[in-house]
Amino acid sequence: MKTVLITGAAKGIGRATALELAKAGYAIVINYLTSAKEAEELRKTIAETYSVPCLTVQADVSKEEEVERMIAEIEEKLSPVDILINNAAIDLPNLFREKTAEEFRRVLDVNVVGAYNCARSVCRGMKERGYGRIINISSTNGINTYFPMCFDYDASKAALNSLTHDLAMQLSPEVHVNAVAPGFIGTESELEGYDEEFLKEEQEKILVKRYGRPEEVAYLIRFLISPEADYINNAVIRIDGGQKGSV
Ligand code: NAP
Repeated sequence: MKTVLITGAAKGIGRATALELAKAGYAIVINYLTSAKEAEELRKTIAETYSVPCLTVQADVSKEEEVERMIAEIEEKLSPVDILINNAAIDLPNLFREKTAEEFRRVLDVNVVGAYNCARSVCRGMKERGYGRIINISSTNGINTYFPMCFDYDASKAALNSLTHDLAMQLSPEVHVNAVAPGFIGTESELEGYDEEFLKEEQEKILVKRYGRPEEVAYLIRFLISPEADYINNAVIRIDGGQKGSV
């Protein structure tokens, strides 16, 4: 049984991925930062519904020493990590001129350095054992969908795409590294803070005329880590319902 670590898995896309991969028979590690209650509820649901091992581990992915401690804890309590899903991220809602350099740095720290910290901590073991899969959860914002209130988030996701290519080159052939770039996915954190009109306008730009569901991103992740996807490496794959103006 392969062990999957999903960062920021207590809510949203991470949560849906944990459920989907548990259903597919993987041992699951739920990393969280502040959502201890949600993480524990998810652990219980997974253990009861799918009878696979499931662990929760608190850690701030932007802090090297916390990530090292998390990986050591997973190895001690469960097994080495075979598959890493770098999902944890933040998106601070301020307009360009109101953002500070400190906020910009924090976004890069969590969204990019966090993914690097986790990858670095597991990749040597993956190489030695001859198998590993890393999926970075990027965004269409890292390709060509830009909003003035999240230039820092956009930059972080573009950097994450770049990191995906670098890691894929460095860790091949044993470890495959791919990125998934969702468009508008209707998670709680994505919908809150936007007014009805803005959300309607955004929906109009999507060819399928609706937001994606977190489960739909989870299905793609499940495929990308399956043996059927063994010939997919170093790719950034959009999942956005065909956003207008994005190719
Ligand atoms: P979400 O519900 O806000 O979940 C993100 C999780 O990241 C949170 O639960 C949070 O954990 C965790 N996190 C934040 N900072 C962390 C840190 N320093 N260390 C560890 N965990 C941390 O977001 P989502 O909408 O599901 O998005 C998930 C991923 O998809 C993100 O990478 C996001 O950029 C990407 N994405 C989302 C959309 C969308 O439309 N929803 C579109 C494109 C890309 P706690 O709750 O425990 O604090």
